Amino acid sequence: MLVIKTEEEVRHALNEQRAEGKRIGLVPTMGALHEGHLSLVHAIRPHCDYVCMWIFLNPLQFNAKADYEKYPRNLDRDVGLAREAGVDLVFAPSVEEIYPRGVEAYDQQKSCRVSAGDRSLGLCGAGRPGHFDGVVHVVTIFFNILQPDVAVFGEKDYQQVRVIQQLVDDLHMNVELVRAPIIREEGGLALSSRNELLPGDAAGPLSISRALIRARQLAASGESSAAKIQDEVRSEIESAGLRVEYAEIVDTETLQPLSQMEDRAQLLVAAFAGEVRLIDNIRLVLGSELE
Ligand code: AMP
Repeated sequence: MLVIKTEEEVRHALNEQRAEGKRIGLVPTMGALHEGHLSLVHAIRPHCDYVCMWIFLNPLQFNAKADYEKYPRNLDRDVGLAREAGVDLVFAPSVEEIYPRGVEAYDQQKSCRVSAGDRSLGLCGAGRPGHFDGVVHVVTIFFNILQPDVAVFGEKDYQQVRVIQQLVDDLHMNVELVRAPIIREEGGLALSSRNELLPGDAAGPLSISRALIRARQLAASGESSAAKIQDEVRSEIESAGLRVEYAEIVDTETLQPLSQMEDRAQLLVAAFAGEVRLIDNIRLVLGSELE
C-alpha cells in the first residue's frame, strides 16, 4: 500500500493506474478510522479496481475551532488499519498542501469557493453554518486532484451524501457515488470518530438509536403525523440526559421537512452528549417494518 502526502505524487501514482485501465475508487475520511470507515472500503471494492483512501481533517468544515482541535488524530494507526482493509493508496496531505494560500484566503473570500446547494440549509446545516460549504469545497478539490471514477459515502452522514449528490449533479461532475449503510456498535450506537470523546456513561448516547427504532415502529404501525413521531423521539433522548439539536422527518432525497409521513421518509437526529455532538438517522416506512 502506498502512503502519499503530495498532490504531485498522487497524481502520478493514479495516472499510472489509469494508464493500465484501472477504475479508481475513492474513500474520503477525516481519519480516526473505525469499522464504519473500513466498511466503506469493502462497499466500494466491487465498483473499482484500485482503492484510494483520503485522510484529511479539513479545517474548513469545522464551524467550531475547539471541535477541530479536539478531533482525534492518529495517522500511523489509520495507515495500519487501511492496509489491513485492503486499501491500495492512502492520500494524507497536509493542510498547506490543500490550501497553499492558507485557510484564511477561503474565509476572506480571496480564493474561489464552492457553495453547497439547498439540501445543505436545514438539519445539520442550520446548526453548523458554513459546514457543508466546507465539505463540498474540499470534495471538489479532492475530486479534481484524484479524479476518481467512483466515490463512497456513508449513510451515517445522511445529509452529507445528498448534499454531495447535489454537488455532483449541479456541477456535472463525472463521479459515480456509492452509498454505504450505517455500521453500529452492539448496543446500537452508530460508530463515529467522536465516540472516542464521549463521557464514560454510554447509556445516554444509546437512547438515540433506541428512539430511532421506536420511531420506525410508530410509522410501521400507521402513525402518519411527523410531529407526533418527532416529539416521541425528542423526549426519549432528552429523558436520557442528552440535548437534542434537531429530530426531523424529511423527504428521503430532497431533505425537505414533511408534516405528514409519506410512503417512505427519513428521520434524522442530532444530539449532544455533554460536548460531543452525535448524529444518526433511520428510514421510516408508513405501515411497514420493511424498507
Ligand atoms: P468522517 O471521517 O467522519 O468524515 O467519515 C468519513 C466517511 O465515513 C463518511 O462517508 C461517513 O459517512 C462514513 N462513516 C462514518 N461513520 C460511519 C458509520 N458508522 N457507518 C458507515 N459509514 C460511516
